[in-house]
Amino acid sequence: MACFQSERNILALEAFLVPMVRAVKPSRKRDGRLGPPQGYPKDPDKYGDPANWKYPVHTPFHARAARRYFNEPRNRAKYTPEEQAYIDRKINEALERFGVAVKIKGGKVEDEAGTIQADVPMNKDIDKMTFEELLLVLLGKNRLASAQGIDAAAVSVDKETDTLFAGTVKEYSVLIDRQERRLEHDCVDFKTNRAVGRLFCKHLGAFLMRVDRPHAVRLLRELLRERDHWTFE
Ligand SMILES: [Zn+2]
Repeated sequence: MACFQSERNILALEAFLVPMVRAVKPSRKRDGRLGPPQGYPKDPDKYGDPANWKYPVHTPFHARAARRYFNEPRNRAKYTPEEQAYIDRKINEALERFGVAVKIKGGKVEDEAGTIQADVPMNKDIDKMTFEELLLVLLGKNRLASAQGIDAAAVSVDKETDTLFAGTVKEYSVLIDRQERRLEHDCVDFKTNRAVGRLFCKHLGAFLMRVDRPHAVRLLRELLRERDHWTFE
């Protein structure tokens, strides 16, 4: 299983695959933004392209989305190779800071690595997302299917209050504390992989499927919105 350290190495490897050109901050573009989009950071440093307020990298989700969009040739073509190098570096630094790896397979960048399965669409209103949509973002398609496959009998919700959920899924424990913004779980997938990117494993998905639905939806929305303030461990 790829551990955090080896994923870091993979990310470092990617830098060598990018042609070595001097990184230059992008210039203002005709289709650039004049200021930060609504609800986005006002600090230009939080953008891969600060001059045009593009490719925000302030959260793991946005950094991953930035990587995906900027891997598309038609988006890259708007910049000189030097500017591309600058944006690549900003995005990669953010991904590394958030512990999100970009995987290389056969010398090709695979942008949906194990930890990356779904992103919040850039302008999707979290308040309008359904339980399934919210879970899909945190689980990805494969893990959502695995979560749905876990037998209800294997899930035990022992405590469910306004702020605290606790219980077990199979032999693993689950503790979700809204007040402390803390999520504790002890399976291998979560510990070695998902927690780093503040994402869910199948057990956490199965657990939330068995708690009171409005409670679960409220928690998931809160999690997505304030994810960078939560501790996953
Ligand atoms: Zn788990």
